[in-house]
Amino acid sequence: MTSSSLFAEAKRYIPGGVNSPVRAFRNVGGEPFFVTRAKGSHLWDVDGKEYVDYLGTWGPAILGHAPEVVVDAVQQAAANGLSFGIPNPLEVEMARLICEWVPSIEKVRVVNSGTEATMSCVRLARGFTGRSLIIKFEGCYHGAVDSLLVKAGSGALTHGAPDSAGVPAELAALTITLPFNDPERLETAFHAYDGAIAGVILEPVPANAGLYLPIPGFLETLRRLCSRHGALLIFDEVMTGFRVAKGGYQELTGIQPDLTALGKVIGGGLPVGAFGGRAEIMDQLSPDGPVYQAGTLSGNPLAMAAGLAQLRELERIAAYEKLESLGQKLEDCVRKILHEVGRNYAFQRIGSMFCLYFCEPPVLNLADARRSDLNAFRSFFHHCLRSGINLAPSQFEVGFLCTAHTDADLDRTLQVIRKELA
Ligand SMILES: *Cc1c(COP(=O)(O)O)cnc(C)c1O
Repeated sequence: MTSSSLFAEAKRYIPGGVNSPVRAFRNVGGEPFFVTRAKGSHLWDVDGKEYVDYLGTWGPAILGHAPEVVVDAVQQAAANGLSFGIPNPLEVEMARLICEWVPSIEKVRVVNSGTEATMSCVRLARGFTGRSLIIKFEGCYHGAVDSLLVKAGSGALTHGAPDSAGVPAELAALTITLPFNDPERLETAFHAYDGAIAGVILEPVPANAGLYLPIPGFLETLRRLCSRHGALLIFDEVMTGFRVAKGGYQELTGIQPDLTALGKVIGGGLPVGAFGGRAEIMDQLSPDGPVYQAGTLSGNPLAMAAGLAQLRELERIAAYEKLESLGQKLEDCVRKILHEVGRNYAFQRIGSMFCLYFCEPPVLNLADARRSDLNAFRSFFHHCLRSGINLAPSQFEVGFLCTAHTDADLDRTLQVIRKELA
């Protein structure tokens, strides 16, 4: 079977031929390829073509694909049973590790995806505060959660319009969207809705509209406003958790959210999410408290074994230093190329996450990111793919480095980038 015959068949049985829409190449044109095997920093498709991969299964593959320690851990766990629905020791180990690594987490519950984690944070924030309104930021993605699939209104205080069919306007109206990196609009919203805001959810480093960083003081303002007005601060670190540092972005900034959502890296490639925070808040969850939350496969032994093996390996090999030096090398070389070819494009990076916007800097929010030349991105993407470099098929995603990327991988990649941009 070729990729194109598989995609034709997939479309007969699966809506759009994919199990998650970001895989469908709608932003770049063309058809997705089908993968048979992935190892380290490389992928092989059904047509026999090899790629250097910077998609990293959208984040989880921080050690590269199929790292031996993770595969071994899954095989060992599998031999002892696939799922119990009864507590198992690995869940306790995982919970302890999360509480030790992530500064603000005192208690944690494990779920099966990032979406479940953010959804549960929102419910818990509402249950804990007895309030209904949620503030989110334009361009921040928090999974396919009804309340969070809301795009920007035109004014700071307009209530959100649903971003997806099937989300009732009444529900979307409880979500207020604001531009990222705008402390004044934030302050205005807090005053306008004083006493009604249950929580503010954000990616502390937004990485689902490309990549931009919080300006100095923005997160501090947010923390101060949440505390003063009794709203919970929710960091969605599904992408940044265990990726930019052991303890996520909160470790780097020292700012403590009340709740944190985790996912991606934490599962070692298996479906895992988690959310945690102050014990006083987490204790509101069932069975101790009135906020319901549950999952048949939550804390699954294979998933816990995979995640624990990956997290321990990250620590053992001092992965974050290695990823930072890979990232720095990529950044230096891309900037040099941009300079040489005379293009003033914004290259943004934190640790092992990066994005090349096809527009001039600065990019500080979604409106800035939207200035990007999407035709130029499309052509760049397809040129890279033809040359065996796999990037996310959209300008509004990030690239991921993993510890398995080699200097040879980077050199090959930079050669391709230089040729396309020249
Ligand atoms: C990927 C992602 C999610 C959703 O996680 P899923 O596992 O895809 O449900 C939520 N928040 C952020 C920041 C993400 O990057």
